[in-house]
Amino acid sequence: MSLKLYNTLSKEKEIFTPVDVNNIRMYVCGPTLYNNPHIGNFRPIVIFDILFRLLQDVYDENKVTYVRNITDIDDKIINTSNELDISAEELVKKYKKTFRKDLISLNILEPTKEPSATEYIDQMVTMISDLISKGFAYESNKHVLFESKKFQDYGKLSRLSPKDIISGARVEIADYKKNPEDFVLWKPSKDSEPFWESPWGKGRPGWHMECSAMSYEILGSNFDIHGGGIDLIFPHHENEIAQSTCFHGEQTAQVWMHNGFVNFSGEKMSKSLGNIATVNDLLGTYSGDVIKYALLTSHYRQPLEFSDDLLNSAVSILEKWSDFQNWQIDKSLGFDKQFMDYLLDDLNTPGCLMRLQQIFNLIKKDPENQELKSYFVNGLNLIGLKPTITKKELKIDINYIENMISQRSSAKENKDFAKADEIRNALQKQGIILEDSVEGTKWKQI
Ligand SMILES: [Zn+2]
Repeated sequence: MSLKLYNTLSKEKEIFTPVDVNNIRMYVCGPTLYNNPHIGNFRPIVIFDILFRLLQDVYDENKVTYVRNITDIDDKIINTSNELDISAEELVKKYKKTFRKDLISLNILEPTKEPSATEYIDQMVTMISDLISKGFAYESNKHVLFESKKFQDYGKLSRLSPKDIISGARVEIADYKKNPEDFVLWKPSKDSEPFWESPWGKGRPGWHMECSAMSYEILGSNFDIHGGGIDLIFPHHENEIAQSTCFHGEQTAQVWMHNGFVNFSGEKMSKSLGNIATVNDLLGTYSGDVIKYALLTSHYRQPLEFSDDLLNSAVSILEKWSDFQNWQIDKSLGFDKQFMDYLLDDLNTPGCLMRLQQIFNLIKKDPENQELKSYFVNGLNLIGLKPTITKKELKIDINYIENMISQRSSAKENKDFAKADEIRNALQKQGIILEDSVEGTKWKQI
């Protein structure tokens, strides 16, 4: 079976055909680091990580270039840094640290490149100047705006007409705009805000321009996949297509993919609703695998209902699955066909998880079956799950840990190193790491 992906542009599931089979290129809009990323921000990161792994498996590891950017300058960053009275740079640095830890806990592969917007300001200025000289953009009151109606295909991704856009009040009305649907490519910075020099005065780029410049610089004018959350279809991706295509004359990306929202009790998660669960908070109670498993239980294009029940059912499944750690497997046996068919069919991860459970049940009946065990573990690896430690108990039994540490010390004194290692490993399985020093053994929870 060939890889099929749903393309928001055509509104159809299409057989994926690379632009260049020796260089498959994917760009995904990464987080804006003005707070700790919440579970909704992580859905695209998890989904496109799986697509990255799958493309590497289908086409070869060295033939896939995956770019996931970091937005390190925009209005939200500036407003938050002003509130906290720190620089935008310090703010991003602070949240980047947590983001890195979250990524490791969720076993997310590093993308091939992870550019930050502020590293590409020169390229953005070049693109904007070009768009002005070609007549697609205009300068007005220190802003540069893209004149949407000059791009004939404007609205082709979101299927919104300029009329829909204006009547739906999905655009900002401002007196420096020729038309309400025109959008900002460059804007002036206020005195207290970060700025870059430009032909239009001290200012900063519009958010859409950031992704256009980074994707063009790193992946070129016609690459394979551009992804992000469903809320990015309009205006972010619609505007990216308009400005990129008018700049280089090509399609920009062949396949546009969008994941659905994460909801809490039927409501879209947002700051105003006060129902934000940051991944960092969740990792205080659950392992990265549990969080990831929960995110994969719905198809990526569907909304995902996130709840404690969902997380707890993931815990009980992964606890059973963790048996696999002692299994001997053979990587060369590859994947179960049904599992692979689900994954190739527009990343049907609920199907993959169901099939893994079926294989696991078959193994329980036939414990010596090497082929099934290999299919199971190879499948888990392909979607980046390695269920070792599931739920971290908030109330740790300190007496138990101290007792184990003292048993281990006695074992070491008696030169019973096998037993000492056994205790260390047993604790590690429960998320407790031991550190020996001259003052004795300390422990910490991972
Ligand atoms: Zn973007």
